[in-house]
Amino acid sequence: MSTQRLKLELPSGHDQLLLHSCCAPCSGEVMEALIDSGIKFSIFFYNPNIHPVKEYLIRKEENIRFAEKHNIPFIDADYDTDNWFARAKGMEDEPERGIRCTMCFDMRFERTALYAHEHGFSLISSSLGISRWKNMAQINDCGIRAVSNYPDIQYWDYNWRKNGGSSRMIEISKREEFYQQEYCGCVYSLRDTNRWRMSNGRDRIKLGVKFYSNAMEED
Ligand code: SF4
Repeated sequence: MSTQRLKLELPSGHDQLLLHSCCAPCSGEVMEALIDSGIKFSIFFYNPNIHPVKEYLIRKEENIRFAEKHNIPFIDADYDTDNWFARAKGMEDEPERGIRCTMCFDMRFERTALYAHEHGFSLISSSLGISRWKNMAQINDCGIRAVSNYPDIQYWDYNWRKNGGSSRMIEISKREEFYQQEYCGCVYSLRDTNRWRMSNGRDRIKLGVKFYSNAMEED
Protein backbone atom coordinates (compact mmCIF):
# COMPACT_ATOMS: atom_id res chain seq x y z
CA MET A 1 0.00 0.00 0.00
CA SER A 2 1.48 3.36 -1.04
CA THR A 3 0.76 5.67 1.91
CA GLN A 4 -0.51 4.99 5.41
CA ARG A 5 -4.13 6.05 5.83
CA LEU A 6 -5.07 8.58 8.45
CA LYS A 7 -7.82 7.66 10.87
CA LEU A 8 -10.98 9.44 9.77
CA GLU A 9 -13.68 10.89 11.96
CA LEU A 10 -17.11 11.91 10.79
CA PRO A 11 -17.72 15.65 11.18
CA SER A 12 -19.95 17.23 13.82
CA GLY A 13 -20.36 14.06 15.86
CA HIS A 14 -22.35 12.12 13.24
CA ASP A 15 -22.38 8.40 13.93
CA GLN A 16 -23.00 7.00 10.46
CA LEU A 17 -22.74 7.96 6.80
CA LEU A 18 -24.78 7.38 3.66
CA LEU A 19 -22.16 7.10 0.92
CA HIS A 20 -23.33 7.63 -2.63
CA SER A 21 -21.21 5.38 -4.84
CA CYS A 22 -20.72 5.83 -8.57
CA CYS A 23 -18.74 2.61 -9.16
CA ALA A 24 -16.45 0.07 -7.50
CA PRO A 25 -13.11 1.60 -8.56
CA CYS A 26 -14.02 5.04 -7.14
CA SER A 27 -15.63 3.72 -3.96
CA GLY A 28 -13.05 1.01 -3.17
CA GLU A 29 -10.60 3.33 -1.44
CA VAL A 30 -13.39 5.35 0.18
CA MET A 31 -14.95 2.19 1.59
CA GLU A 32 -11.67 0.80 2.89
CA ALA A 33 -10.78 4.15 4.48
CA LEU A 34 -14.12 4.19 6.30
CA ILE A 35 -13.82 0.54 7.35
CA ASP A 36 -10.26 1.08 8.62
CA SER A 37 -11.52 3.97 10.73
CA GLY A 38 -14.38 1.96 12.19
CA ILE A 39 -17.01 4.23 10.64
CA LYS A 40 -20.48 2.82 10.12
CA PHE A 41 -21.82 3.47 6.63
CA SER A 42 -24.12 2.22 3.87
CA ILE A 43 -23.61 2.38 0.13
CA PHE A 44 -26.26 4.16 -1.92
CA PHE A 45 -26.06 3.22 -5.58
CA TYR A 46 -28.09 5.65 -7.66
CA ASN A 47 -26.63 6.30 -11.10
CA PRO A 48 -29.32 6.57 -13.78
CA ASN A 49 -26.79 8.38 -15.95
CA ILE A 50 -24.97 5.15 -16.84
CA HIS A 51 -25.71 3.98 -20.37
CA PRO A 52 -26.37 1.42 -21.73
CA VAL A 53 -28.01 -0.91 -19.22
CA LYS A 54 -25.33 -3.55 -19.85
CA GLU A 55 -22.67 -1.14 -18.59
CA TYR A 56 -24.90 -0.05 -15.70
CA LEU A 57 -25.37 -3.64 -14.52
CA ILE A 58 -21.66 -4.46 -14.75
CA ARG A 59 -20.70 -1.38 -12.72
CA LYS A 60 -23.40 -2.09 -10.14
CA GLU A 61 -22.53 -5.77 -9.78
CA GLU A 62 -18.87 -4.92 -9.22
CA ASN A 63 -19.89 -2.54 -6.46
CA ILE A 64 -22.22 -5.12 -4.88
CA ARG A 65 -19.44 -7.73 -4.96
CA PHE A 66 -17.09 -5.46 -3.02
CA ALA A 67 -19.77 -4.34 -0.55
CA GLU A 68 -20.71 -7.96 0.19
CA LYS A 69 -17.07 -8.85 0.72
CA HIS A 70 -16.97 -6.29 3.55
CA ASN A 71 -20.54 -6.81 4.81
CA ILE A 72 -21.48 -3.23 3.99
CA PRO A 73 -25.21 -2.57 3.40
CA PHE A 74 -25.85 -1.82 -0.28
CA ILE A 75 -28.92 0.20 -1.25
CA ASP A 76 -29.81 -0.38 -4.87
CA ALA A 77 -31.82 2.66 -5.98
CA ASP A 78 -33.84 3.28 -9.13
CA TYR A 79 -32.41 3.23 -12.62
CA ASP A 80 -34.81 5.97 -13.68
CA THR A 81 -33.21 6.81 -16.99
CA ASP A 82 -36.31 8.63 -18.29
CA ASN A 83 -35.84 11.29 -15.63
CA TRP A 84 -32.13 11.55 -16.35
CA PHE A 85 -32.69 12.03 -20.09
CA ALA A 86 -35.49 14.54 -19.43
CA ARG A 87 -33.15 16.63 -17.30
CA ALA A 88 -30.30 16.31 -19.82
CA LYS A 89 -32.47 17.61 -22.66
CA GLY A 90 -30.74 20.50 -24.42
CA MET A 91 -27.39 19.65 -22.83
CA GLU A 92 -26.48 16.78 -25.13
CA ASP A 93 -23.45 18.55 -26.59
CA GLU A 94 -22.11 20.07 -23.39
CA PRO A 95 -18.53 19.10 -22.54
CA GLU A 96 -17.59 17.02 -19.51
CA ARG A 97 -17.35 19.08 -16.34
CA GLY A 98 -19.94 21.48 -17.81
CA ILE A 99 -23.60 22.13 -16.98
CA ARG A 100 -24.80 18.65 -17.97
CA CYS A 101 -22.48 17.20 -15.35
CA THR A 102 -23.76 19.69 -12.76
CA MET A 103 -27.28 18.43 -13.52
CA CYS A 104 -26.06 14.83 -13.29
CA PHE A 105 -24.40 15.34 -9.90
CA ASP A 106 -27.38 17.36 -8.65
CA MET A 107 -29.75 14.56 -9.57
CA ARG A 108 -27.69 11.87 -7.85
CA PHE A 109 -27.15 13.95 -4.71
CA GLU A 110 -30.81 14.96 -4.55
CA ARG A 111 -31.85 11.32 -4.45
CA THR A 112 -29.15 10.50 -1.91
CA ALA A 113 -30.29 13.34 0.34
CA LEU A 114 -33.93 12.28 0.01
CA TYR A 115 -33.08 8.71 0.96
CA ALA A 116 -31.01 9.95 3.89
CA HIS A 117 -33.91 12.12 5.06
CA GLU A 118 -36.39 9.27 4.83
CA HIS A 119 -34.15 6.64 6.44
CA GLY A 120 -32.54 8.37 9.39
CA PHE A 121 -29.14 9.31 7.98
CA SER A 122 -27.90 12.78 8.90
CA LEU A 123 -24.69 12.77 6.83
CA ILE A 124 -24.05 12.05 3.15
CA SER A 125 -20.99 11.99 0.93
CA SER A 126 -19.98 10.48 -2.42
CA SER A 127 -17.14 8.62 -4.07
CA LEU A 128 -17.53 10.86 -7.14
CA GLY A 129 -14.84 13.32 -6.06
CA ILE A 130 -11.99 10.81 -5.86
CA SER A 131 -11.60 10.66 -9.63
CA ARG A 132 -8.95 12.96 -11.03
CA TRP A 133 -11.20 13.45 -14.08
CA LYS A 134 -13.80 15.23 -11.97
CA ASN A 135 -14.02 18.81 -10.73
CA MET A 136 -14.21 18.46 -6.96
CA ALA A 137 -15.54 21.98 -6.40
CA GLN A 138 -18.37 21.27 -8.85
CA ILE A 139 -19.22 18.04 -7.02
CA ASN A 140 -19.12 19.67 -3.59
CA ASP A 141 -21.37 22.52 -4.77
CA CYS A 142 -23.92 19.93 -5.88
CA GLY A 143 -23.70 18.02 -2.61
CA ILE A 144 -24.19 21.17 -0.57
CA ARG A 145 -27.10 22.26 -2.76
CA ALA A 146 -28.83 18.90 -2.33
CA VAL A 147 -28.78 18.99 1.47
CA SER A 148 -29.82 22.64 1.62
CA ASN A 149 -33.43 21.41 1.42
CA TYR A 150 -33.00 19.32 4.58
CA PRO A 151 -32.00 21.06 7.81
CA ASP A 152 -31.40 17.61 9.34
CA ILE A 153 -28.77 16.51 6.80
CA GLN A 154 -25.15 17.57 6.28
CA TYR A 155 -22.93 17.00 3.26
CA TRP A 156 -19.39 15.80 4.05
CA ASP A 157 -16.97 17.38 1.57
CA TYR A 158 -14.02 15.18 2.56
CA ASN A 159 -11.25 15.15 -0.07
CA TRP A 160 -10.81 11.41 -0.72
CA ARG A 161 -7.86 12.05 -3.06
CA LYS A 162 -5.50 13.37 -0.39
CA ASN A 163 -3.00 11.45 1.75
CA GLY A 164 -2.46 8.90 -1.02
CA GLY A 165 -6.15 8.22 -1.67
CA SER A 166 -5.77 8.53 -5.45
CA SER A 167 -2.90 6.00 -5.54
CA ARG A 168 -4.69 3.57 -3.25
CA MET A 169 -7.78 3.81 -5.46
CA ILE A 170 -5.74 2.35 -8.33
CA GLU A 171 -3.98 -0.20 -6.12
CA ILE A 172 -7.27 -1.49 -4.76
CA SER A 173 -8.81 -1.62 -8.24
CA LYS A 174 -5.91 -3.77 -9.42
CA ARG A 175 -5.93 -5.99 -6.34
CA GLU A 176 -9.70 -6.55 -6.67
CA GLU A 177 -9.53 -6.76 -10.48
CA PHE A 178 -12.45 -4.37 -10.78
CA TYR A 179 -14.13 -3.75 -14.09
CA GLN A 180 -12.46 -0.73 -15.67
CA GLN A 181 -14.96 1.55 -17.31
CA GLU A 182 -13.52 3.63 -20.12
CA TYR A 183 -15.94 6.56 -20.13
CA CYS A 184 -17.69 8.60 -17.48
CA GLY A 185 -21.07 6.97 -17.85
CA CYS A 186 -23.74 8.68 -19.95
CA VAL A 187 -24.45 8.10 -23.62
CA TYR A 188 -22.92 11.50 -24.44
CA SER A 189 -19.66 10.72 -22.65
CA LEU A 190 -19.57 7.38 -24.49
CA ARG A 191 -20.09 9.20 -27.79
CA ASP A 192 -17.45 11.84 -27.05
CA THR A 193 -14.87 9.33 -25.79
CA ASN A 194 -15.37 7.22 -28.90
CA ARG A 195 -14.97 10.31 -31.09
CA TRP A 196 -11.73 11.15 -29.32
CA ARG A 197 -10.44 7.59 -29.60
CA MET A 198 -11.20 7.37 -33.30
CA SER A 199 -9.50 10.70 -33.99
CA ASN A 200 -6.46 9.30 -32.18
CA GLY A 201 -6.35 6.06 -34.12
CA ARG A 202 -7.90 3.90 -31.41
CA ASP A 203 -10.81 1.47 -31.60
CA ARG A 204 -14.23 2.25 -30.18
CA ILE A 205 -14.88 1.25 -26.57
CA LYS A 206 -15.89 -2.36 -26.11
CA LEU A 207 -18.19 -2.73 -23.12
CA GLY A 208 -17.53 -5.33 -20.46
CA VAL A 209 -14.04 -6.42 -21.50
CA LYS A 210 -11.50 -4.35 -19.58
CA PHE A 211 -10.54 -5.17 -16.00
CA TYR A 212 -7.86 -3.77 -13.74
CA SER A 213 -4.98 -6.13 -13.02
CA ASN A 214 -1.55 -5.95 -11.46
CA ALA A 215 -0.02 -6.66 -14.86
CA MET A 216 -1.51 -3.56 -16.51
CA GLU A 217 0.25 -0.32 -17.34
CA GLU A 218 -0.93 2.98 -15.87
CA ASP A 219 -3.15 4.97 -18.28
S1 SF4 B 1 -20.15 13.06 -18.48
FE1 SF4 B 1 -20.41 11.90 -16.55
S2 SF4 B 1 -20.97 13.40 -14.94
FE2 SF4 B 1 -21.24 14.35 -16.98
S3 SF4 B 1 -23.39 14.01 -17.48
FE3 SF4 B 1 -22.26 12.32 -18.40
S4 SF4 B 1 -22.27 10.69 -16.84
FE4 SF4 B 1 -22.88 12.60 -15.81
